Amino acid sequence: MLPPLIDEPPMTEKLTIAKADKLTAVKGMNDVLPPDSAMVEWLEHKVRALFARYAYRNIRTPIVERTPLFVRGLGEVTDIVEKEMYCFDDRLNGDPLTLRPEATAGVVRAALEHTMLYDGPKRLYYIGPMFRHERPQKGRYRQFDQIGAEALGFSGAEIDAELILMAVGLWKEIGLSDVRLELNSLGQPEERLRHREALIAYFEQHESTLDEDALRRLHTNPLRILDTKNPRMQGLVETAPRLIEFLGADSLTHLGALTSILDTNGVAYRINPRLVRGMDYYNLTVFEFVTDRLGAQGTVCAGGRYDYLFEQLGGKPTPAVGWALGVDRVLELVKSSGCSPSVPAPDVYAIVAEISAMPVVLSSLQALRSMGLSVQMHHSSGAGMGSIKNQFKRADASGARYALVFGADEICAQQVTIKHLRGSGQPQATQSLSEMASWAPSLQLPV
Ligand code: ATP
Ligand code: MG
Repeated sequence: MLPPLIDEPPMTEKLTIAKADKLTAVKGMNDVLPPDSAMVEWLEHKVRALFARYAYRNIRTPIVERTPLFVRGLGEVTDIVEKEMYCFDDRLNGDPLTLRPEATAGVVRAALEHTMLYDGPKRLYYIGPMFRHERPQKGRYRQFDQIGAEALGFSGAEIDAELILMAVGLWKEIGLSDVRLELNSLGQPEERLRHREALIAYFEQHESTLDEDALRRLHTNPLRILDTKNPRMQGLVETAPRLIEFLGADSLTHLGALTSILDTNGVAYRINPRLVRGMDYYNLTVFEFVTDRLGAQGTVCAGGRYDYLFEQLGGKPTPAVGWALGVDRVLELVKSSGCSPSVPAPDVYAIVAEISAMPVVLSSLQALRSMGLSVQMHHSSGAGMGSIKNQFKRADASGARYALVFGADEICAQQVTIKHLRGSGQPQATQSLSEMASWAPSLQLPV
């Protein structure tokens, strides 16, 4: 037998620790319960349909990746890599691993690993949880869902526009009207280098105003200083040299091509020269959809071009562009706009007089479900099925439009009585179970 690879505490010791601990969720990592979970499903359903209309295909990458992927991909001197990642060593082989803080690096890793672009560019989307060790507050959590789109292998500004139009289409679809688009160009590396020199010179003149993070980044990554959330530094950042003034003809042409598509399509935007984004991998187009309705956590969706990320991760030069939206923030905005989707309710609630009827009842309900109806069945307790009156109360509370009553007489006659509970619909009627196919479909709300 192989010896154990690691020194684990004996099982009993682990159990004692677990008993003494309070078994609550980890701070900043939330349970999503019904009916709120229905809103998440509603949004996911809407975005999947939207992505299908734009021919974006689903990609599912692991939640855990090797740590160097993020260090190399996102940049060493970024908020995420410096202080927000959940890192741990694999207990078996010591591999440095990280819970993904974002999905773009993983998507690019997968594209390289599987040579996904061998037969041309790919349009992809993902939905899933991300992890960042931030201070939890409204709209900022340690585990949060993102929905993202990545267009890999496309260099034209029309794809930047397609992605932005797709997000705009989503806002329309889910009834959001007050999200604004902010746009900027980060140009190309050599343009950034010239801007960087000007930026360092400028910040050096104002060193006393810089906070600790900014001082540390002054010579490593001064562009990141523009991304500061420190209110004390906003004035300084406001008058710093603007990257847009360092852009060459090609970068300006790319930006112009994008804005002319947005203009023609009636998409309003504001060029925000301060928009730099939190990861190092961006170049040319960067954008954010922001709202004033969510306080400090006002960015609901953000993205841009990352033409150098493939190379940074060891691949051939491959242009790419994408965005990610924060599910919590988008849903918060949906709620605050007062257009929350309806909470799902079953079509019918089955009321059952005698527990002995259960075999027949369950097979009837199976048949109803196979026709597409949503059915909730009353369940027994130790004392039997409970009074019919109480069952009707439960039926009403379930939100079902119909009650199906499997009474003793009905079961004898192989029938069921349909009672109308709410909304418009069929009046009360007793129907034969063998003719279910003719009467059951009308109990279902048209989708
Ligand atoms: P912020 O500036 O608010 O920290 P970010 O630039 O770090 O955002 P991105 O990495 O671009 O955010 O992620 C895209 C979107 O994901 C954000 O616009 C936001 O809606 C959402 N998001 C980011 N971090 C969190 C978080 N900790 N909790 C909830 N949603 C988040
Ligand atoms: Mg952040």
